[in-house]
Amino acid sequence: MPQTSQSSWTYRDEELFCEDTSLTRIAASHGTPAYVYSKAAIARNFHAYEDALADVPHRVCYAVKANSNIAILNLLAAQGAGFDIVSGGELYRVLAAGGDPHSVVFSGVGKTAAEIRFALSKGIHSFNCESEYEVGQISRAAVALNTTASIAIRVNPDVNAATHPYISTGLRSHKFGIDIEAAAELYRRAAALPGIAVEGVSCHIGSQILDTNPLLEAADRVLAFIERLRGEGLTIRTLDLGGGAGVAYRSGEQGAHITEFLERLKEKIQGRDLVLMLEPGRSIVANAGVLLTRVLHVKENAGKRFVIVDAAMNDLLRPALYQAYHEITPVERPRDETRCQADVVGPVCESGDFFAHNRELPLLKPGDLLAIETAGAYGFALASNYNARPRACELLVDGADVQTIRRRETYEDLIRGESIPTVQTFVPEI
Ligand SMILES: *Cc1c(COP(=O)(O)O)cnc(C)c1O
Repeated sequence: MPQTSQSSWTYRDEELFCEDTSLTRIAASHGTPAYVYSKAAIARNFHAYEDALADVPHRVCYAVKANSNIAILNLLAAQGAGFDIVSGGELYRVLAAGGDPHSVVFSGVGKTAAEIRFALSKGIHSFNCESEYEVGQISRAAVALNTTASIAIRVNPDVNAATHPYISTGLRSHKFGIDIEAAAELYRRAAALPGIAVEGVSCHIGSQILDTNPLLEAADRVLAFIERLRGEGLTIRTLDLGGGAGVAYRSGEQGAHITEFLERLKEKIQGRDLVLMLEPGRSIVANAGVLLTRVLHVKENAGKRFVIVDAAMNDLLRPALYQAYHEITPVERPRDETRCQADVVGPVCESGDFFAHNRELPLLKPGDLLAIETAGAYGFALASNYNARPRACELLVDGADVQTIRRRETYEDLIRGESIPTVQTFVPEI
């Protein structure tokens, strides 16, 4: 199991374990489909950032959208993480998890007035602003609440992150950020607004970036921009380079080398009197989680083999949304060497409901367990109830201990909040 973080996923006696816990045992006690996370892997991934940055002023703000379970937020808060949020709901989750609002940065291309007021009233650290209109809104809200909002403006450094088009965000043609050429003027105007303290410059050029050179190039452009702003007399204290470091999804693939990337980044900011902020999401949680699923049956159609499992696109949308590749590993190591090609699909009524196409897999039979790897980021976070499927449970493994951090949904959960109008507006014609 090469994808997942170092030693958290290993075969013992021909059976796949998460830390010291057998996935077969987890499936028997908690059912499938289930998201299983390794606590040690999450902590290890976070500390790769924290340790590399120990000797410079910094704050690592975990991007909540990658996996927003409050147990995971709580775990990261305890390790010293701040949080990058993109909605009022995510702030609510951070607070419910015991996170410190002063460690929160609020990003996102469209914040509502209510979200801005909520964030200000909780005293978040700062806003990453994406338009002049938004800066004005924050100014008015801050004045009304008799407070001052720290802001950074998200600039668009016009570098190509060379990743999937849906998760590339740093080109001029994208909806994100403000053209770095036009941003200086906005900084001047923002600094003059009441209730606004201009604090930093932020950017985020995309996600699943395996080659970190574009990130370093973005850093160069933003640093030059910061010097220019400082030259005009503005006080800039922070550089927020966003998230985006990529992980290995395929066997043999190499994830972004975080430590090396941070060493090079530190050289660039050396002596510049800046606090370095980062917003990693995927690289903290992706390889710390698998989606555990059971084979329902195996069938052949026109000579093609389909392995139908009890998880579906509503549980893990990435293959359907991004044509994403996830390794699929049998929980029980197959005894014979026979492999055959198959599509691994879920029960949802959509041809987009697949986990793998033409994958070499051992011969599988109903009841077999599979681990869909590297599913800790943008996995449960993108889950839905499509096809009226209750969402899977989420489990956190710590050594030999397994905790349910989100129970499996029930049928009652499916209709929670719905109602039938008391005055019938529809009279059937019979
Ligand atoms: C999504 C996002 C992140 C996290 O990206 P990852 O690729 O998961 O590290 C960070 N910052 C912003 C503004 C984002 O939109």
